[in-house]
Amino acid sequence: KKRNPGESEFHQAVKEIFESLTPVFAKYPKYMQQNILERMVEPERVISFRVPWVDDNGNVQVNRGFRVQFSSAIGPYKGGLRFHPSVNASIIKFLGFEQIFKNSLTGQPIGGGKGGSDFDPKGKSENEVMRFTQSFMTELYRHIGPDIDVPAGDIGVGGREIGYMFGQYKRLRGGYEAGVLTGKGLQYGGSLTRTEATGFGTVYFVNEMLQDKGLSFEGKTVVVSGSGNVSIYAIDKATQLGAKVVACSDSNGYIYDENGINLATVKQLKEVERKRISEYVLHHPEAKYVEGCSGIWSIPCDIALPCATQNEIDTASAQLLVDNGVKAIGEGANMPSTLEAIEVFLNNGVLFGPAKAANAGGVAVSALEMAQNSARQPWTFEEVDAKLHNIMKNIFKNSKEAAAEFGHEDNLVVGANIAGFLKVADAMIAQGVV
Ligand code: NDP
Repeated sequence: KKRNPGESEFHQAVKEIFESLTPVFAKYPKYMQQNILERMVEPERVISFRVPWVDDNGNVQVNRGFRVQFSSAIGPYKGGLRFHPSVNASIIKFLGFEQIFKNSLTGQPIGGGKGGSDFDPKGKSENEVMRFTQSFMTELYRHIGPDIDVPAGDIGVGGREIGYMFGQYKRLRGGYEAGVLTGKGLQYGGSLTRTEATGFGTVYFVNEMLQDKGLSFEGKTVVVSGSGNVSIYAIDKATQLGAKVVACSDSNGYIYDENGINLATVKQLKEVERKRISEYVLHHPEAKYVEGCSGIWSIPCDIALPCATQNEIDTASAQLLVDNGVKAIGEGANMPSTLEAIEVFLNNGVLFGPAKAANAGGVAVSALEMAQNSARQPWTFEEVDAKLHNIMKNIFKNSKEAAAEFGHEDNLVVGANIAGFLKVADAMIAQGVV
C-alpha cells in the first residue's frame, strides 16, 4: 500500500491472490526465496499518455490513456482496453494483475496486460468516437505488436472501436498486421465466436460447477447484471441450456421480466441502437424497469451472473442472494464481488466461480484469434466454440484439483489463483532474475 498509495482496486486484487497462495509458499519455499510475489506485483512497464482530440463543436478535449504491461513470462502481453470515465491507474493495474493469472489458466501462451482511458463513449457521436480512438492509437501503436502486446476490447470498447484502432494502427505502421488486436471484425481477421466467447464461457464454466454437484441450468431462474457484450451472450447461452433469465441491467437501472428476458429486444436496444435498458419496457409492457442497479440482487434466483463491473456485489447484496436461495454465482465481470461478499457466498455453501476462471473464455478465444491470424487460416464457429468449451472445462478441472491439492476442497477462488500462479512463477524462475 505504501508503494501504490490510493490504489484500492489494485490492493483488493493483490490481497485475494496473496491470501490464496499461503499454502503454496508453505509447500514450496523456492517461490519465497525467489521473491516471486514482489516481482509479480510490480508491472514490467506502465505507460500513461495524453490523448488530445477535437469534439463536434470544435473544442479541444484531453483524456488520459494507459497501457500496463504487467507480465510477459509466458507470452506477449494480452488484455483488453477499457473506455469509461472511472478508469485510472488503480483500475487498470487491478485488471492487468488479474489478467496474468487468468491468461495462464487458459493454457494459451499469453502474458498479462490491460489498458484504456477515462474517455466516456456515452453520448459521443460516431465521429467523436473515431477521432478519439485514432488519437489514442497514435500513441499506443509504438508500444504494441503481434509478438509484443495484443490489446482487445473491454467496457466501452467493442467491434466499432477495435475497427477504428486497427485502421489507425495500420496507417501508422504502413502495413497490415492482423495479430496486433483481437476482437476484430470478421471481414478483416476476426475470429468467429469471439463476440460470444466471454458470456458463453462463463455459462460453460458455471455448467461445470453445477454438473459436478449433479445440478444443471435446466429450469433454473437466472439473474444477469449488465447488458453489454458479456451479459448478452451469457443470457443467450443460459437460455439455450434451458434456464429462464428474468433480469438484466445497465448503469442506470434494471429490468425484470418474469416471462424471461427477450434477448432479441435487448440486442436491438444495446448492440444496434445504443439505447438505455429502460426502453425494454416500451416493447414489453409486462416487464418492470427499476431505477438504480444494485436492486437487481434482490430478485430471487438460483444462479446469479454478475457481468457488469467491479464491486457490484457487496456484503448486503450477497446476503440477499443467499437469503433468497441462490445456488451458484459465476463472475462474468472482473472482480464484481467484494472480498467480503465472496466470504458470504463461500461460508453459505454457494458454488462460486471466480472471475479469472469463469470469464477467461474471452481472452482464450482472443488467443485462438491470434493463432488463426498467424496461420492465415480462419476456423468455423463450431470449431472455435468446441475449443472454448474444452478450455472452460479444463479451467474448472485444474482449479478444482489445485484447490483439493492444497487443502481447500471446492474453493475455486483459491484453486484458480494457485493454478494460474504456478505456471507463471515457474516460467519466471526458468528465465532468471529479469
Ligand atoms: P460493455 O461495455 O459491453 O458492457 C458493460 C455493461 O455493464 C453495460 O451494460 C454497462 O451499462 C454496465 N456497466 C458498466 N459500468 C457500470 C457501473 N459502474 N455500474 C453498473 N453497470 C455498469 O462491457 P463488457 O461486457 O465487455 O464487460 C463487462 C465486464 O466483463 C467488465 O468487468 C469486463 O472487464 C469483463 N470482461 C469482459 C470481457 C470481454 O470479452 N468483453 C472479457 C473478460 C471480462 P452502461 O451501458 O450504462 O454503461
